[in-house]
Amino acid sequence: MTAAGNSALFPTYARYPITLVKGEGSRVWDDTGKEYIDLMSGIAVTNLGHAPQAVKEKLVEQLDQLWHVSNLFHIPNQEKLAQLLTENSCADKVFFCSTGAEANEAAIKLARRYAQKVLQNGKYEIITFNMSFHGRTLATLTATGQDKVKEGFLPLPEGFVYAPYNDIEAVRGLVSDKTCAIMIEMVQGEGGVLPADPAFIKQLAELCEERGLLLIADEIQTGVGRTGKLFAYEHYGIEPDIFTLAKGLGAGFPIGAMLGKGKLAEAFNAGSHGSTFGGTPIATAAGIASIETILENKLPERAAELGTYTVNKLQERLQANPLISKIRGLGLLIGIECTQPAGEIISEIHKRGVLVIPAGANVIRLVPSLTIPQEDLDRGIDVICEVLAEK
Ligand code: PLP
Repeated sequence: MTAAGNSALFPTYARYPITLVKGEGSRVWDDTGKEYIDLMSGIAVTNLGHAPQAVKEKLVEQLDQLWHVSNLFHIPNQEKLAQLLTENSCADKVFFCSTGAEANEAAIKLARRYAQKVLQNGKYEIITFNMSFHGRTLATLTATGQDKVKEGFLPLPEGFVYAPYNDIEAVRGLVSDKTCAIMIEMVQGEGGVLPADPAFIKQLAELCEERGLLLIADEIQTGVGRTGKLFAYEHYGIEPDIFTLAKGLGAGFPIGAMLGKGKLAEAFNAGSHGSTFGGTPIATAAGIASIETILENKLPERAAELGTYTVNKLQERLQANPLISKIRGLGLLIGIECTQPAGEIISEIHKRGVLVIPAGANVIRLVPSLTIPQEDLDRGIDVICEVLAEK
């Protein structure tokens, strides 16, 4: 274990005192050989468990062929993954990148460029939400509705305003003659696992339609099966103009995507946006295997079933516990809200061999892989309930 003081890394993370060295399915092992049940999946990344066979095979096959080629050439895997994504979503076009923040940057740029180059209305303002999280690049941390991520990074880019989540009248009041888009997480992940109200999302989509605004769904945490649908917007019966993916898309291999309606394509031309590592043959091979596995094995349906099971089980076992104020979630994105900061409880759960993470200060977040065996999930639930009962 590297002592923090001796590390050559910038101290951008408060790391747990655990060094993980191996993973298989829903289990991970640390450098002392201790085994853990993984209910966090690298924060909603290893959605198929660790080292899933189908993705591994596809990656190895691609590693023997071609690792990297510039986007100045045609890349068949990119075309195939874009086809898979558009056939299974409301989008017609895809831009590949490597991370969530990069996908959201692309969405912000596309929304502004569509307003300024296609509609030629000069609009640039984007409404986002209090407690949202959209990334840590300058534009995406500005889009994020949490002050703590902005401290010391002034000046921030102009053109973002923030509305209370689930409050349509407040959003309506913020639409100005400069507004070009509204950007939202269908479930606020980092903000505390808060699913949006169905009526609110419907009204938001109607407002966008009425006022000619683009609706951008940040599906970086909620996408690719996590919430019980392939994309979380499907729960709400609406179609965003743009949505973004990363985390689970490559099952652990870094890849992000910004997807949008066909009408937006003319806003971009050669040179208006790009990324050296966006959609490399290897990254898109991982993406293809990941999406095919999710679809073939009906993993969104499994996430829905296991999510309901987990929330019911937690509610049953924790309803009388005075430490718990609320249990909520959508599919396998689940939050246990405590009446006090959850940090110590989480550390104790780790000590007993189960990995979970916070969302905000008070929420214990569960994001197991969509393939987690029932007995591992049950064991994880038992440990969480035992720790909470003893506190
Ligand atoms: N958007 C949401 C909803 C996220 O949860 C995250 C990461 O937690 C991001 C954006 C940023 O993604 P990345 O860390 O890959 O840049």
